[in-house]
Amino acid sequence: MNKKIRPRTFSVLLAVMLVSMVAVSAVSAQDVTGTPTAGSGEPALVIGDSMDVLVAGATSVSDMRASGVPEPEELNVPKGVTRYDLVTFDHVALSKQVQSVLPLRIHGKEYQAELHRMDFEQIDDGIDSYDGAIVGVGGSDVLLTTGENALVGSVTLGNETFWITPVESRARAEKEASPLHVIYSSRDIENPEKSVIIDYGTLIPPEGYTPTEVPENLESSAIELQDQYATVNLLVVTDNQFYQDQDNWKTIAQDIVAEANRQFDRDDILVSLCVMAYTDSRRVQLSNHSNITNNPVVAVQAVYPDSDLDLWASDLALYVGGYDADGSAQGATYGYYPYHHRHAWAQMVPDDIWYLGTTHGRRCVSIHELGHLFDTGHQDLDQNRTIPSYRRAYQWYQPFSPPLNLKNTVTYSYFNELMSTTEFSSDDYHGDADHDNARRIRETKWTVANYHS
Ligand SMILES: [Zn+2]
Repeated sequence: MNKKIRPRTFSVLLAVMLVSMVAVSAVSAQDVTGTPTAGSGEPALVIGDSMDVLVAGATSVSDMRASGVPEPEELNVPKGVTRYDLVTFDHVALSKQVQSVLPLRIHGKEYQAELHRMDFEQIDDGIDSYDGAIVGVGGSDVLLTTGENALVGSVTLGNETFWITPVESRARAEKEASPLHVIYSSRDIENPEKSVIIDYGTLIPPEGYTPTEVPENLESSAIELQDQYATVNLLVVTDNQFYQDQDNWKTIAQDIVAEANRQFDRDDILVSLCVMAYTDSRRVQLSNHSNITNNPVVAVQAVYPDSDLDLWASDLALYVGGYDADGSAQGATYGYYPYHHRHAWAQMVPDDIWYLGTTHGRRCVSIHELGHLFDTGHQDLDQNRTIPSYRRAYQWYQPFSPPLNLKNTVTYSYFNELMSTTEFSSDDYHGDADHDNARRIRETKWTVANYHS
């Protein structure tokens, strides 16, 4: 099923966008300087002083083969990335630098990143997330998650974001002293202007579902608590496919939760998503569930029912899925309304159409679905439920961000590699009184934080 719903307003916006793209593409092509040719030179981003470059500027599997990389077609290079550097790290040295000052070399110029460790998880699993910026560079942003032999994250400088992700399967990485990673630029993604549906709104609750018992009027009784931090406990799970395909799925999942926390932590939301566990203990059971590809939310709810979330002291569960599910949605949940559902699914792998399973895509789809669990809505509200209307997503014009000058908040129903942001709409930043996801999350957060018994 590849049916796409394109609201008319979106088509108009798309037309405007395409026109502006043509206008700026000549300019942006000139900014790309210093990028090495395949197999030679220095990569556009060098992280720390222990990074080894196997192939710089690879544009195809054959570039890697020519550089002596065995079975390069097995690697999980995100589909649609047209140019990348294949690298390895000394992870012990890297994690020391991340904790103090991390040197970065970007397009041949030296920088330093000043990072601080995020504290949203209480698990001593050797996976840690660091958030910060490049010293002296306004608007820069760095988010890195380090695990044993893995690095995942992003470095943003000006209009360019570099993405770092491991690319080997579990079986292959086990044979490596230092597993392979790729670094790619937001400028090197194929068809970045393509938008893909995230979901068609929250799913209709199934017959016979027993909703979580929530005290009446909890939402309104918690009004005076809206200015206080609510800690929402999160269980993160996966299936056997993603477990096997990835050398270290927990590091990838933690990168997503780290970015989610940066958004939920904003001072008009004040939610801390505290990870209770990243578990793959029921990965085979989940993979074997009959609904795993046609309704991943039903599958994860069956394998990790609400009563078991309680055993993990978790309010919510996020399932990071390793299958390209049926249909064109990349994520799903029954959401907050009419019942208080606690599970969300986000697809980690490419769809047949334009979803590439990039780090940005994974973050956006996951945060979008988590948002629904706090009752955030899309840009157009469901006709059956238009109240409260300020639950809506927001789109804005952001000058000087070629090639696309339009940006969407994360709860927009479409994902686009360049337009989508991980931000919720808010009257305080991107949004207004009528497009204010942040307000809705503020109102629902204590209800969600009280789910687990
Ligand atoms: Zn949605």
